[in-house]
Amino acid sequence: MITTSSMLAVKAGTDNFPYADERFADLQMLRYQVHGFDNLSLQQKKFVYYLSEAALTGRDILWDQNGRYNLRLRQMLETVYTDYQGDRTSADFRAFEVYLKRVWFSNGIHHHYGCDKFVPGFSEDFLRMALNSVDQSKLPLAEGQTVEQMVAELFPVIFDPTVMPKRTNQADGQDLVLTSAANYYGEGVTQAEAETFYLNMKEANPDPAHPVMFGMNSRLVKDANGKLVENVWRSGGLYGAAIDRIIHWLELAQGVAENDKQSAVIGKLIEYYRTGNLHTFDDYTILWVQATEGMVDFVNGFTESYGDPLGMKASWEGMANFKDLEATRRTETLSGNAQWFEDNSPVDSRFKKEECKGITAKVIVAAMLGGDLYPSTAIGINLPNSNWVRAEHGSKSVTIGNLTDAYNKAAHGNGFQEEFVIDAATLAIIRQYADACDDLHTDLHECLGHGSGKLLPGVDADSLKAYGSAIEEARADLFGLYYVADPKLVELGLTPNGEAYKSQYYTYMMNGLMTQLVRIEQGAEIEEAHMRNRALIAHWTLAHASLEAQQQGTKPAVELIKREGKTYVQINDYAALRRLFGQLLAEIQRVKSEGDFEGARQLIETYAVKIDPQLHAEVLERYSALNLAPYKGFINPVYVVERDSAGEITDIKVTYGETYADQMLRYSRDYRTLPVVNE
Ligand code: ZN
Repeated sequence: MITTSSMLAVKAGTDNFPYADERFADLQMLRYQVHGFDNLSLQQKKFVYYLSEAALTGRDILWDQNGRYNLRLRQMLETVYTDYQGDRTSADFRAFEVYLKRVWFSNGIHHHYGCDKFVPGFSEDFLRMALNSVDQSKLPLAEGQTVEQMVAELFPVIFDPTVMPKRTNQADGQDLVLTSAANYYGEGVTQAEAETFYLNMKEANPDPAHPVMFGMNSRLVKDANGKLVENVWRSGGLYGAAIDRIIHWLELAQGVAENDKQSAVIGKLIEYYRTGNLHTFDDYTILWVQATEGMVDFVNGFTESYGDPLGMKASWEGMANFKDLEATRRTETLSGNAQWFEDNSPVDSRFKKEECKGITAKVIVAAMLGGDLYPSTAIGINLPNSNWVRAEHGSKSVTIGNLTDAYNKAAHGNGFQEEFVIDAATLAIIRQYADACDDLHTDLHECLGHGSGKLLPGVDADSLKAYGSAIEEARADLFGLYYVADPKLVELGLTPNGEAYKSQYYTYMMNGLMTQLVRIEQGAEIEEAHMRNRALIAHWTLAHASLEAQQQGTKPAVELIKREGKTYVQINDYAALRRLFGQLLAEIQRVKSEGDFEGARQLIETYAVKIDPQLHAEVLERYSALNLAPYKGFINPVYVVERDSAGEITDIKVTYGETYADQMLRYSRDYRTLPVVNE
């Protein structure tokens, strides 16, 4: 599971590093600094470098997972971008350039967050003319195809709003598989067929207490006889060419691992990539959780299932990182007290873990982002996702310090908070404590929230189906919200005083009720799991605060008020708000532990999907006046390898100058691993 940044606002950096880079559409590109890389030993630098290459090498897999035409369209668009000799200053070409940059950012033709297909700002005539003007051998023509035939095949995918309109559709009541463009299910496979297929698999499982992550690493398709079969992503299978190249880099990494445990982890991952066996995958994750010594670590593989409408199939992602020793002391304090937090949470004791084991937490420095972590990325990661592995072996939780730092540095002084925060006193608390409390909330969410609680015996981990991701994120966020205000944190030296948490409470409610709406187009609903989670928490507490106030004849703990025509969040009673967070945490944990699908559906559909159109319009208008981009992503650094005359690596330097477009074009060239024309 991941935590995404809710930071919405960005302008300029506050030190000399160029945190903010180019801006287009609704996107702001940032850069992150790899603090401390120069201080690593040569062996550690090599280790990071090989893992970085492995992280970049799966890029094409993700593009194909996000939609079956994406690799082909990428090659077509990039050829026009690099080779078109006509007027490159025309409105059409400029709109085309923005479109391509958005496609790069999303690893496909659908918005990375909203999942809607991009609407091109250039004409079909322009693109046809441009395609006819470039060298045909560079175009992704199917066998024997002319440019005109390719245009006839691919243009509807770009221009027709009814063709593949959504990457991942979460709309209640529709066939989520048939209506999603993501490439996880083959032609004609329905939601009911897919659900039955995996239900049968689970029922046939001889060891139901230790289920593998069924369906996680395959595309489910119909064979020639219409029978459902899994095309497994493995060496020699689907995506085998890309996976073999990932294995190559992993083998080099294994050769420079810092210790035997790390080496065993990588060896097991390679075995899994070779076989596609999900039991081997579980073995790998167990080794990965236990490998806590050493500076360097990584994520590499089919990991998160947010992109599958049924929440099973995992998108490919990669990251190389190393420990931030200073900041890790903070998370070690939390994980060292994990049992205290579990025992004292407001959750029913039936749903609590008797023994919190193996929760390790650290703050890391991201050295390279790849696959589904690039360019839009997480600021916290908690893995593995398998419930029984987490319960029996623990989980590893990381906060990515240098990315949070880049978001924060880039956001200072841009007018966002001045616009949306209710008054100077609240603003002062936020200015003083928000950065630190945001980090702490992320730590609590990752190290303790996701790791807390347990399912009742016999409850299927997938019972909440399409609502599972949002409920799980809400559970982790609420755990963080409840505890960020706890005197225990002051006692542990993690918050400076009993007031600092108010910055987190205010910004969280403001985001959930109002400002996160800037990421959504007028008229649309909330679909993304993290956004649904924030809306759920904010709207549930708002509604219950209002109910309590009516019953008791007091002021509500939190309310929306109007001042000079503008809406603001007003918190009247922070302690009461904390109590409401605790109540909702208890309820959400019950829903999760009991596998109460109907309870999950009620909560999400009541509080987390619909948007008040009037408030939405107001927020969009106030936000657009600030001229800020609602989404951020990162340009990666470039590692320059220095070698002696015998070809041995003598040093590796980290550099930051590459432009966004150059990086994307280089990745498409150097990490091209899959055929672009589908068989
Ligand atoms: Zn999370």
